[in-house]
Amino acid sequence: MILHLDMDAFFASVEQQDHPELRGKPVIISGRSMRAVVSTASYEARVFGVRSAMPLFQAVKLCPQATVIQGRMGRYKDVSQSIFNILQDFSPQVEPVSIDEAYLDIRGCERIMGSPLFMAQTIKDTIRQKEGLTCSIGISPLKFLSKIASDMNKPDGITIIGVDEVQGVIHDLPIRKVPGVGETTFKYLEQLGVRTLGDIKRVSAETLKNRIGVFGLRLKDLSQGIDSTCVIPLAERKSISTEQTLDKDTGNREQLKRMLLMQADDVARQLRQKKVKARTVSLKITFSNFKQHTRRHTVQTPIQSAREIYKEALALFEKEHLPLFLRLIGLGTSGLIPEDQPVQALLFADSDKNGTEKWEKAERAMDSILGKYGKNTVKRAVSKDFNVDPGD
Ligand SMILES: [Mg+2]
Repeated sequence: MILHLDMDAFFASVEQQDHPELRGKPVIISGRSMRAVVSTASYEARVFGVRSAMPLFQAVKLCPQATVIQGRMGRYKDVSQSIFNILQDFSPQVEPVSIDEAYLDIRGCERIMGSPLFMAQTIKDTIRQKEGLTCSIGISPLKFLSKIASDMNKPDGITIIGVDEVQGVIHDLPIRKVPGVGETTFKYLEQLGVRTLGDIKRVSAETLKNRIGVFGLRLKDLSQGIDSTCVIPLAERKSISTEQTLDKDTGNREQLKRMLLMQADDVARQLRQKKVKARTVSLKITFSNFKQHTRRHTVQTPIQSAREIYKEALALFEKEHLPLFLRLIGLGTSGLIPEDQPVQALLFADSDKNGTEKWEKAERAMDSILGKYGKNTVKRAVSKDFNVDPGD
């Protein structure tokens, strides 16, 4: 089971906790100027129609009696850290989503922590005791459903969707509520007559893919109760990298490029295994005099294929002058995000999307062959006569 926790009106609640005179009253957290927007509104302010992202002047018009407070990020970060520390005590598998949201993998915790319901209640009690704050929790066998569940009884709620209830919930779930379905996707689906996630079952995978790309296939999976994403703890999300010390120091660019290509293969395989994509690619080199040097580049659309990672690494490598021979070269990726996290704005903008997908598919096929027959059965043509093991 996967647990999703979302703090209730987090910034506003922290202020109400720190300033008892504000408790039970409308509070709006915002930036400095009148052109600012509402960051968070307390539930007392929401009654008047105040919402996040609303221009502040409009919010003040709706609720003139509200206390407007300039946000104190430092304070919120401290409280957030304290909450994440509490969560770590319940499961080693905690994935932070934002400052006030997290997933916990609670499989196998039952023997120590009790039933999911008991565990959720204990987490809520602990956070309330330590920080005086409330949160809402959703628990289900599927990551995306847990997030939806935590929103079902907000604020201060617990919602549990058992294995037997999954199909029923999917059948009735308004498609707009599925994480990743933005305005554009919603319109496409509306044209196809899709109103609930269950309706997706009637649409062919081909149609979905043609209309909305890879995310369409993910929706197809979700409609069938399949969510392959898992909880990725922070430590694992930070970076995936590989490096090799050379047998003999070299300044041979062609040789170094071939090593980078194999390292890209290796890193890409690890990214796929962890079901993450990378935002940043870095190149690390150590010269023969042990001087180290790292270059990095952040891309707009997160990447996963060896081809793209290599392309980025190569661009970084081409910038290097090599006044000395190298004794080590390494390739790293960081800024990792779950592979299915949709990048809505770029969904249709990426002209090379099909090419990239083909490569990702080919590389996945390589993974399964490697998995079955061992790592030396398939190699890139260029690495055939090249005797370096890419750091497995
Ligand atoms: Mg929240």
